[in-house]
Amino acid sequence: MKAPTQARSEQSAELKPRPSDLGDSRGVPIKHQAWVAKGAKQPFVLEALEFGALGDEDVEVAVEHCGLCHSDLSVLNNEWGVSQYPAVLGHEVIGRVTGAGPNAKGIQVGQRVGVGWNSGSCMHCRQCMSGSQHLCPQVQPTIVGHRGGFASHVRTHWAWAIPLPEGLKLPEAGPLLCGGITVFAPLSMHAKPTDRVGIVGIGGLGHMAVKFAAAYGCEVTAFTSSESKFDEARGFGAHHVVSSRDSAAINKLAGAFDLLISTVNVPLDWDAIIGTLAPNGRLHVVGAVLEPIPVAAFSLIMKQRGISGSPTGAPVAIQSMLEFAARHDIAPQTEHFPMSRINEAFARLESGKARYRIVLDADF
Ligand SMILES: [Zn+2]
Ligand SMILES: [Zn+2]
Repeated sequence: MKAPTQARSEQSAELKPRPSDLGDSRGVPIKHQAWVAKGAKQPFVLEALEFGALGDEDVEVAVEHCGLCHSDLSVLNNEWGVSQYPAVLGHEVIGRVTGAGPNAKGIQVGQRVGVGWNSGSCMHCRQCMSGSQHLCPQVQPTIVGHRGGFASHVRTHWAWAIPLPEGLKLPEAGPLLCGGITVFAPLSMHAKPTDRVGIVGIGGLGHMAVKFAAAYGCEVTAFTSSESKFDEARGFGAHHVVSSRDSAAINKLAGAFDLLISTVNVPLDWDAIIGTLAPNGRLHVVGAVLEPIPVAAFSLIMKQRGISGSPTGAPVAIQSMLEFAARHDIAPQTEHFPMSRINEAFARLESGKARYRIVLDADF
């Protein structure tokens, strides 16, 4: 039987770096093209950057497609106060491995891989050793203190180069690497297929969450502030759609949901939202809302409810999510721009009009 996925290779013989990938014959590092932001809210300019020698455990990936995530905009604008400039953003990479350090494991030159929000972790702490590498204290975000995927090439630790399953629609798959795993992880951690699940916010994250939850077998209710998205949400698989601005309609759903996944980054009527949780229900937050979420203790205590959050996922979780997406033919709804129109693409994202994720196709 043909293996359903392109698993990590057991052979390491192919992993020697090719000199042409690392520099010229004298070992001089080669330069790669990258779209660079010199400071907060600055436009991207194309530059040739010297990458230096490839790390022993790293792989280099020629970028073919890279999704544009709202977090790229947040880091560009330094909304979280952690940005480092000059910045090369982009953390939803689909590409082909062009070089591998001598100690890179399980990845072959020529293989297609994905790179998401993280591109490194220590691999020896308690979190890494227990398979939660995304919770490593030293986890390396791809676009903070590291060069991301809006470039001809991106580098990553081998463990964070995610092998891609057969059947994945590669030009559309980029957004799964960050947005996809962000909403898939809470489903796989906290939902059963028999659960009633609410997805709050139907945007880049939420529309993928609806598709995943519906394919998982859940009864899915979409909450959106935009009536223009009602029909589209049903098209993504939602069984019911409710306006997230209509507190009366939300109150009617009191006690309805086993799991709510909130993808919004704006404050909502949280009392009403939490009130829709069934006993033992859980509100899971993945949208980076900066304002605190007020919670009445009794609302949690008497119904034994919980509130939680999570950041993307570990490499194995990402690979499992990609396999699920390929098996159920799940892909984000995308708009494509050539990477050379990156500034236009960011403006489109900032306008809030993108339906629903933007992918930049490399055109160096
Ligand atoms: Zn992201
Ligand atoms: Zn670690």
